[in-house]
Amino acid sequence: MPSPSTLAALRAFVEERDWDQFHTPENLAKSIAIESGELLECFQWGGDFDPTRVEEELADVVTYCIHLANRIGVDLDDIVLRKLESSRQKYPTEQARGRMVKYTQLAAEREAETETVTEAAIRDGARAGAASDPEPS
Ligand SMILES: [Mg+2]
Repeated sequence: MPSPSTLAALRAFVEERDWDQFHTPENLAKSIAIESGELLECFQWGGDFDPTRVEEELADVVTYCIHLANRIGVDLDDIVLRKLESSRQKYPTEQARGRMVKYTQLAAEREAETETVTEAAIRDGARAGAASDPEPS
């Protein structure tokens, strides 16, 4: 995701300062949350924002994400694409398109639809069975 030159620049920045010792997964995860808070702060009082400040905070978040991915030895492209596939399963296009609904609600809707179909099939099966039953003598 980040270019090789960006990765090299980040690595050099950390090595020059001997900061790798502080980049534990825990510290990096905390830093992502802290920087995310700073990004959110840009929008604290409404939709107007300072684009320069948003860029800086977004860069901080992404930088710590890159550091964490490197630290735990995962490829950002791989994990993003795997997560995207998982999200495709959770949010089927025909059900989720244009809707702002959490995947748990979508799953509940699918389950309710399945139950309705099953109940109808059972009811229809019972009617068909009753219709074919011989008249009592
Ligand atoms: Mg910041």
